[in-house]
Amino acid sequence: MSKLQEEINTRRTFAIISHPDAGKTTITEKVLLFGNAIQSAGTVKGRGSSAHAKSDWMEMEKERGISVTTSVMQFPYQDCLINLLDTPGHEDFSEDTYRTLTAVDSCLMVIDAAKGVEQRTIKLMEVTRLRDTPILTFMNKLDRDTKDPVELMDEVEEVLNIACAPITWPIGMGKEFKGVYNLYTDEIILYKTGQGSKIQDKVVIKGLDSDEASQVLGAYADDFRDEIELVRGASHEFDLDMFLAGELSPVFFGTALGNFGVDHMLDGLVKWAPKPQGREADTGLIESNDPEFTGFVFKIQANMDPKHRDRIAFMRIVSGKYEKGMKMKHARINKDIRVADALTFLAGDRSAIEQAYAGDIIGLHNHGTIQIGDTFSQTKAIKFGGIPNFAPELFRRIQLKDPLKMKQLQKGLIQLSEEGAVQVFRPLRNNDLIVGAVGILQFDVVVHRLRTEYKVEATYVPISVSTARWVDCDDQTKLSAFRTKCHENLALDGADNLTYIAPTMVNLSLAQERHPDVTFMTTREQ
Ligand code: GDP
Repeated sequence: MSKLQEEINTRRTFAIISHPDAGKTTITEKVLLFGNAIQSAGTVKGRGSSAHAKSDWMEMEKERGISVTTSVMQFPYQDCLINLLDTPGHEDFSEDTYRTLTAVDSCLMVIDAAKGVEQRTIKLMEVTRLRDTPILTFMNKLDRDTKDPVELMDEVEEVLNIACAPITWPIGMGKEFKGVYNLYTDEIILYKTGQGSKIQDKVVIKGLDSDEASQVLGAYADDFRDEIELVRGASHEFDLDMFLAGELSPVFFGTALGNFGVDHMLDGLVKWAPKPQGREADTGLIESNDPEFTGFVFKIQANMDPKHRDRIAFMRIVSGKYEKGMKMKHARINKDIRVADALTFLAGDRSAIEQAYAGDIIGLHNHGTIQIGDTFSQTKAIKFGGIPNFAPELFRRIQLKDPLKMKQLQKGLIQLSEEGAVQVFRPLRNNDLIVGAVGILQFDVVVHRLRTEYKVEATYVPISVSTARWVDCDDQTKLSAFRTKCHENLALDGADNLTYIAPTMVNLSLAQERHPDVTFMTTREQ
């Protein structure tokens, strides 16, 4: 086996999807604990603890109690190297989540077992369906009174339309939670309370029918054995092909807070989740073991490190190997660049790397030339697709408190729009700056970040814009006639793409009727 193939085989790149409060952050902490990436759990993003506020931006997250940034974390587990991509939980940031999910090969779905399938989980599952991403499931908070486990599985199967194969099964719940039984290894793994922040010594009892099991289960033993019989009969058996096709999910039970069960899930991830998969480019499928380096940018984040005030482009390596100092082709602008300072993200801390392989996420310093969706390759002239920008639905005009800060405001807005969370439009006819967003919370985020990261005080004024469309036309003469005719309604977005800003939907329809050769687009494939 080639060295490249060996490296690829050890990698797993996944994201956690869940409804807010289901326990994603807590699980992330425990996962990192198992990966030896942190010394004790509680150091990732502990709400209400100030030591972890890595930036003012994070402070805002904390104030609001929501997670809005996507972080990337790499850590070893068993013989594997795992890349975990965190996704924002709040729905106003769904675009960001959408793009992040294009960069992973599998997902962990976390469900609050007391609440069952919640609305945000349904939405996120829809996104994973677009690429049939394999899903592992973790039923969390078994240390509380939860729904009946059989009902929970039925609910997932019915609402999310995916078959469930329990790998472990809970023994009791809430105060009576004793541990789980592994249906495949015939082992009981006992739960101990008060072990939340440390790796526990696994206490394992071999055999459900053993005397030891009878002792531990006590009066509950016979009922539990019957229950397992029933579960075996009524549920799906784990099937690797169905899992890889996104049709069946292995299910684990536990409590992230109590640090129980997360490692069972990780064992499943290492064993079954796919190694880095190829991606479709305009020239066809690029396999991960293609020796030539290729990758695409799925996220840009400004000012991650307040000391450096830099902008980082997150790239998923699709194939081959990155080596420090290598030359790569930036397809969109058709330029070769030399990259000597790509970053890797170990538990959120960044460090320069010498090499990285397909499936890894690397960070490139962006000085304004990289956009979300950009493809990089060693020599191949290819473009990866499938990373859209969505037309915003909400608009506000942004106004400066100090008019002399116009330059900073423009710079800030353009940099923030590069991240793809908001879009900025500059009308051709005046110097207004219009901010467009898909979710209302993004407006607050922009003002907050302008203040803390760019030292600009700004406010919003309402504006009568109901929608925006990116416009294009193959015929340059017709395009220029359109530009003259519709000058009043045209604007440039953050990346200088022409957009039509419509005060009403009727106005938009009329413009479309009058200019049939011009295409009006609700998404812009990057
Ligand atoms: P996120 O919004 O999905 O990131 O959820 P968090 O990880 O922040 O968890 C939300 C709340 O649920 C926090 O108060 C956690 O302490 C709590 N929590 C997480 N996991 C468990 C668990 O297994 N049991 C209990 N009882 N609480 C939990």
